[in-house]
Amino acid sequence: MTVATAPPDVPFADPEVSIVRLHGEACYWCGAVHSALTPAGSVATPAGECGVRIWFIVACPQHRDRRPR
Ligand SMILES: [Zn+2]
Repeated sequence: MTVATAPPDVPFADPEVSIVRLHGEACYWCGAVHSALTPAGSVATPAGECGVRIWFIVACPQHRDRRPR
């Protein structure tokens, strides 16, 4: 999903974060892939001029209650 501007409640992702974590294939915080991954909100990354891309991230049981900020 690509939008022109980030909704105010969507924080920007760490620029160093792995792409698989943005794709929701691994825990956003620790990179775990063999756990029960649950939705953990969304983050934004810059996409072109003035644009952002919204990613729906997941978390392992250990980080399930954590949210990006
Ligand atoms: Zn984790």
